[in-house]
Amino acid sequence: MNIVKVMKFGGTSVGNTDRMRALIPLITDSDRKIVVLSAMSGTTNSLVEITDLLYGDSVNDASVRIEELRVRYHQVVEDLYSTEPFLKTGHELIDSHFDYINNFTLRIFTKLQEKAILAQGELISTSLFHNLLKERNIKSILLPALNFMRIDKDGEPDYFYIEENINRELKKHASNAIIITQGFICRNVYGEIDNLKRGGSDYSASIIGAVLKVKEIQIWTDISGFHNNDPRYVEKTKVIRELSFDEAAELAYFGAKILHPSSVNPARVKNIPVRLKNTLEPDDEGTLITSNSVLLDYKAVAAKDGISVLRIRSDRMLMAYGFLRKVFEIFEAYRTPIDMISTSEVAISLTIDNSEYLSQIAKDLRELGSVEVEENQTIICIVGDFRIERTGSAPEIFEALNTIPLKMISYGGSPNSISLLIDTTNKTEALRLLSRNLFE
Ligand code: ASP
Ligand code: MG
Repeated sequence: MNIVKVMKFGGTSVGNTDRMRALIPLITDSDRKIVVLSAMSGTTNSLVEITDLLYGDSVNDASVRIEELRVRYHQVVEDLYSTEPFLKTGHELIDSHFDYINNFTLRIFTKLQEKAILAQGELISTSLFHNLLKERNIKSILLPALNFMRIDKDGEPDYFYIEENINRELKKHASNAIIITQGFICRNVYGEIDNLKRGGSDYSASIIGAVLKVKEIQIWTDISGFHNNDPRYVEKTKVIRELSFDEAAELAYFGAKILHPSSVNPARVKNIPVRLKNTLEPDDEGTLITSNSVLLDYKAVAAKDGISVLRIRSDRMLMAYGFLRKVFEIFEAYRTPIDMISTSEVAISLTIDNSEYLSQIAKDLRELGSVEVEENQTIICIVGDFRIERTGSAPEIFEALNTIPLKMISYGGSPNSISLLIDTTNKTEALRLLSRNLFE
């Protein structure tokens, strides 16, 4: 029996015991499937806080937080199971995970141990859920992601390894229809525990779906798919029913929180539809992402905060070749990706969202010319039909935003998006103006 679909449930979908129980009817149809689970919502954040405390040598504070989390999970066990053997197993499971975490308070803390601690959230949620199914006599197996999910030396999925190993593991359980596994966690090139970065469970689901060539990858959250604007800032947003892979990738990358930006790619390469579904409204069709593109003047708007802009000015740039290469090499040396670029003959502006090396990058750039840095910027991305032979769309956007200072504009890079840079203080206003003028 082939695996038909991957169903990934995010942190809020397993966020409490009612929500966990509510997943049962969703996964018990006759399709053979992989169920990818995140950690219960809030858990990974708590684990990050604990590792931060351990890095800062605040061992006592870390122990307090570990015990608080342990108590919360014992309560989850109490609420989740109704029979004695499963209650007992549940409490033992929680203690074994928290004893393990607690052990790290006794040692010098390293990156390796941090990753091992962060993995506990998904290891716990999947075990709890697997045991819940067992208690209900629903057959399922728990396939450890650490047995097949792996990244290479550049941190990219090692597809060859993953495909070989997941298929080998699945052969052992050929008669099982429900296969549960952890999102987010993996091994690195040394075989150590690692992860696919925050929010990475979506990415796990997409990678698994791609290597198994399933019919559909489903990402279940608590909202019915991509909205045409950010519902946290704008009223009357609407669900977008269909998106192309390219459009979804732009929206995910430029701020729409619903999907991890990297997760579009594995599905796109194998042309596997991705469906975003809502666990609170399972009958809602959600958003379907495919290679099909239904062109609309404007489809959606998203915003990405935490952007820094660097403006470099140099007369040496005038009619020179090789200048941009020198600029880019500096970003490369600090492994910092560039998002937006805009150039004139003697100046160039670039944005980055990872400001870890901002001051070093600025310092190195000063060797090339004068450099200005501004933080607290936001990229607004408008997804729609911006093929360069068309007229009319760009002016409408600028007209809508004529009261907002636009600090950079990126047009012509992609046929399906325009990006603008603004001060973060103007974000809410900009999103509202765009909704009012483009969608209402
Ligand atoms: N639990 C991980 C996180 O919070 C992965 C995920 O939820 O996708 O980042
Ligand atoms: Mg997520």
